[in-house]
Amino acid sequence: SDDPEIIDGNAVAADVREAVAGHVETLAAADVTPGLATVLMSEDPASETYVSMKQRDCEEVGIDGIHVEIDADAPASELYDTIDDLNEREDVHGILVQLPVPDHVDKRSVLRQVDPEKDVDGFHPENVGRLVAGDARFKPCTPHGVQKLLDAYDVETEGADAVVVGRSDIVGKPMANLLIQKSPVGNATTTVCHSRTEDLDEKLGDADLVIAAAGIPEFIDGSMINPGATVIDVGINRVDADTDKGYELVGDVDYDSASKVAGAITPVPGGVGPMTRAMLLYNTVKAAGLQRGVDLDL
Ligand code: NDP
Repeated sequence: SDDPEIIDGNAVAADVREAVAGHVETLAAADVTPGLATVLMSEDPASETYVSMKQRDCEEVGIDGIHVEIDADAPASELYDTIDDLNEREDVHGILVQLPVPDHVDKRSVLRQVDPEKDVDGFHPENVGRLVAGDARFKPCTPHGVQKLLDAYDVETEGADAVVVGRSDIVGKPMANLLIQKSPVGNATTTVCHSRTEDLDEKLGDADLVIAAAGIPEFIDGSMINPGATVIDVGINRVDADTDKGYELVGDVDYDSASKVAGAITPVPGGVGPMTRAMLLYNTVKAAGLQRGVDLDL
């Protein structure tokens, strides 16, 4: 069949960052410098990498990055106190607690502790509720980034049969909630699959749009894809490989076989990953605008 359209997340993310930099200028004219606080309570190297990337991204677009590290063995109260302080700070408009938090810290309580107006991850129950109700304040970064990609490439979602593979609180559920909304880049007939789904092949075989977010390396291959479908691969999986680092990153989709069948497809890396990072910056300027009463026309 014809070559698929390659959906370039790096390019669309660059456009989002450019728009964000414009919003930073608008805020500056109103004497506001947007600030994003990242909080890390973990010694996990992947989490450390994610946080430092987020800080670097902030610097690039003119957002003030504030970083707080808490000893992974510290009592949970230390994390709550840190969040309380950041909730109070006028120079901090967005707060992101890097997940996962240690086992002795209750994740749900942490997410509730963040001021919902500063909750740029969109994980506070108030923001989850608003999203489900079709009145989102901060859309979670990964599904929001997927929406931007679909929009940028004019992928028709209205009336499309969409299959979301995965039902996590950070990707699958909010993705499905966005796709069913009565709004642009919504109006899809959406099926959510998970580990108890029977006959995933059958569901995928009918899909016009596949969002893969199961966290299993390359498990969706070309034979499972409906010819011409749009395939968005959220997965980022480390697999052993003969590289300098000893591993490589692959998606949940087997790119080689799927790209022979799909109408459009995202690569890994260079697809959804950069979009997730860009949407965090977007949510941060949005938060600053809301808190300081600056209309950014977002
Ligand atoms: P989780 O592990 O939280 O969720 C995985 C989901 O996949 C679960 O709902 C699980 O079902 C489902 N699942 C597991 N096995 C199967 C199967 N055989 N068939 C169908 N569904 C299955 O992962 P996340 O949602 O956090 O992340 C998913 C992937 O996306 C990971 O690779 C992660 O690294 C990546 N990711 C990428 C981001 C990006 O920026 N590109 C951002 C966030 C995540 P059940 O609920 O029944 O267990």
